[in-house]
Amino acid sequence: MTDLIFVADEAAMLLLGEKLASKTTAPAVIFLHGDLGAGKSTLARGFMKGLGYRGRVKSPTYTLVEPYELEGSTIYHMDLYRLADPEELEFIGIRDIMSDNSICLIEWPEKAGNRLMKPTISININYLDNGRNVKITATDPAIQSFINEL
Ligand code: ADP
Ligand code: MG
Repeated sequence: MTDLIFVADEAAMLLLGEKLASKTTAPAVIFLHGDLGAGKSTLARGFMKGLGYRGRVKSPTYTLVEPYELEGSTIYHMDLYRLADPEELEFIGIRDIMSDNSICLIEWPEKAGNRLMKPTISININYLDNGRNVKITATDPAIQSFINEL
């Protein structure tokens, strides 16, 4: 559970996202914790690639949420950094997003107060002098043991 994954560079972060995607099925709520520039969006891009998405993954910094329709499921990539008040989540339809059979990737979930569902996967990214340390915890034991093997 406490295994730290060393992620040397951007390419390795993309690959980590890709690997995680290969084990994740809807419904899933993925919290991405880490300072500005930690690599949350990079991991999310790798995740989308791992799901087979070949388009550009846009930054949801201003729109708060960016939906992706993939075969079978909808992915919502959220960045709540600019959320001024958790109540704003109602305007982007957070209830529908959460009740959908979807995968939600959420940057800055701490900005949402208690308006999000509990995460099924929680990712913490920390800076190192070179690269990053990533800690991932999953409620699904199959996903957790996959992560522990990485
Ligand atoms: P965040 O979404 O957390 O603000 P980004 O994903 O936008 O961060 O990444 C910020 C920068 O960090 C990018 O230039 C990216 O290439 C770089 N980066 C991502 N992962 C790593 C890593 N493991 N090691 C070094 N740099 C990284
Ligand atoms: Mg980001």
